Amino acid sequence: MMLTEPTTTVQGIGEKKAEELASMGIITVGDLLEYLPYRYEDYQKKDLSDIAHDEKATIEGKVHSEPSLRYFPKKKSRLTFRMLIGKYLVSAVIFNRPFLKNQISLGLTLTLTGKWDRNKMTLTVSDVHFGPFSDDRKIEPVYSLKGLMHGKTMRKIIEQTFKQFTGHVPEPLPLYLREKYRLPGKETALKMMHFPENFQELKAARRRLAYEELLFFQLKMQIFRKWNRQQSEGASLLFDQKRVESFIASLPFQLTQAQERVVEEILKDLTDASRMNRLLQGDVGSGKTVVAAIALYASVTANRQGALMVPTEILAEQHFQSLKEMFAPFGITVALLTSSVKGKLRKETLHLLSQGEIQIMVGTHALIQEEVNFHKLGLVIIDEQHRFGVNQRRVLREKGESPDVLFMTATPIPRTLAISAFGDMDVSTIDVMPAGRKPIITHWAKHGMLERVLDFIKKEIVNGRQAYVICPLIEESEKVDVQNAIDVHGQLSQYFHEYEVGLMHGRLHATEKDEVMRRFAANQCQILVSTTVVEVGVNVPNATIMVIYDAERFGLSQLHQLRGRVGRGSDQSYCVLIADPKTEEGQERMRIMTETTNGFELSEKDLELRGPGDFFGNKQSGVPAFKVADLIHDYRILETARNDAAKLVNSEEFWKETMYAPIRAILENEGVLDKERLD
Ligand code: ADP
Ligand code: MG
Repeated sequence: MMLTEPTTTVQGIGEKKAEELASMGIITVGDLLEYLPYRYEDYQKKDLSDIAHDEKATIEGKVHSEPSLRYFPKKKSRLTFRMLIGKYLVSAVIFNRPFLKNQISLGLTLTLTGKWDRNKMTLTVSDVHFGPFSDDRKIEPVYSLKGLMHGKTMRKIIEQTFKQFTGHVPEPLPLYLREKYRLPGKETALKMMHFPENFQELKAARRRLAYEELLFFQLKMQIFRKWNRQQSEGASLLFDQKRVESFIASLPFQLTQAQERVVEEILKDLTDASRMNRLLQGDVGSGKTVVAAIALYASVTANRQGALMVPTEILAEQHFQSLKEMFAPFGITVALLTSSVKGKLRKETLHLLSQGEIQIMVGTHALIQEEVNFHKLGLVIIDEQHRFGVNQRRVLREKGESPDVLFMTATPIPRTLAISAFGDMDVSTIDVMPAGRKPIITHWAKHGMLERVLDFIKKEIVNGRQAYVICPLIEESEKVDVQNAIDVHGQLSQYFHEYEVGLMHGRLHATEKDEVMRRFAANQCQILVSTTVVEVGVNVPNATIMVIYDAERFGLSQLHQLRGRVGRGSDQSYCVLIADPKTEEGQERMRIMTETTNGFELSEKDLELRGPGDFFGNKQSGVPAFKVADLIHDYRILETARNDAAKLVNSEEFWKETMYAPIRAILENEGVLDKERLD
């Protein structure tokens, strides 16, 4: 009696049903038992007085009037009759099931489920059960099904499966953990998920399965992390503390406390024998680049090369310029490698790099091409890491002999996601902005107020400032009602005819983009109309206005990123969101944006509003899909599972005691304990 047996071992499942199940991804008995309902129909009987207005509920009573049937156009119909419920008379309405007229007669006992209108004392019926309320269908599981499979059949199949396999569901969790958290056993929990007696049971079952799911997930993360550390013996960078200190002292400003703290964390990682695998997160403008520079400098003093990889050419060039300036007094060679570095210069750059003559290399994806060889790569920093795929990140890491790796992100990641998506990383956070920054003032304007917005831009420009105007799409689409950057550019060019209005979008060539950006940075153009390509990292301190058209189309994190393009100088900066959101959620987002400038708060709200799947907006984020667990609501369970997993992985018992054998077996089965497959 193994759960790995095919579904056909269950009575009543023939070849045909087995095929249907297979199309739903259900191959084995175990798959069946773990095919959990995605919601439940509540058929628990209620007293009329306990039912709220508009609530869906089940009542039982006797038919008190002959049903009357009315037909409407298009074969629609309505059946109405009265029911006596206790001592109350209520109306029952059933739509589009005319055949019920002949089955419902005076005095018959019915159990009806539907939506209760308290004012009209009327139930709009969705489910009719002939006879008194029966106990065995109080809470009915609803499965997501494919093809010809019916809910009823599915329930029967699962019922039968439990009958045959009771007592055969293996229990992976040791008793002491189940007792500690008062968790039901695995088999019980699964049964309760499929056939809950009440909602408390359902809750207990969910809790148990979520814990198990998160524990296994965290075990994997912790094991990867442990191996990552063991694997990287000898990666210790012996940097020159004195030189690093004098570099820090050479900066035109004092580090914030947060910067000091993360610098310390990073430098400690560099000296440690294990390889650094750290995420540095900090809001836009919080000063991550300086921290990166300090780390790069430290690796140079240890006679290693450093690499900084960024997602766009513009950014690469900006970073290259600012690092070159910072390092000039220290005689350090910084070079740039992008796809625009061509011909002789490219050849020479690559040659110098392989000879170790270039100490710090800044670049785009160009850095991970095969022709790029480092001499002695010690530190890799990857900026805006979520822009790179998992593979790209790995390739660069493999260019050295286990170099230390620092990821940077300006999209603050809510803690719950950070420990799930990046559970195998250490996380450093810059949570304070450099002093003297004026928070950006954000306004929300409806489209009808555009004139006023334009006036406002004009005032700033007259004062010598510059503005960004962001539009969501670059081409007209009939289906989607969005502003079109080219149109907006045309309109604004007219309105601001005495100024230069630039246009930037993804269809431009990299060199064209750079040219536009350069002109804007040099204040040769005062207004830059752009799609979201300016989102990342660009630094033009004289720009003080960010206008975002159709702002409701963006998520909070993205709006925050865009807003972060301004407020980089000492002048007061503004962000104007032009939006007529149709949904409550959209309005909520606009309100939140006007109320908070804290990236972390925003990211938490973003996660709440959009859910973890959408948070990063791409599939490579590494946030796994869970069956039962929900990263937002099961946050406490996640924390608990994480602590337990860390304790287990670092204890000797876990690796030898028999009570943990089931867990080890599952991990082994999934290839987690297979060193070859470890990244
Ligand atoms: P991030 O990369 O986190 O968005 P940057 O490193 O580009 O932020 O820093 C934004 C600006 O703030 C830069 O002009 C930088 O020189 C400046 N800056 C960084 N740290 C400090 C500090 N401690 N005090 C004052 N200014 C700072
Ligand atoms: Mg940056």
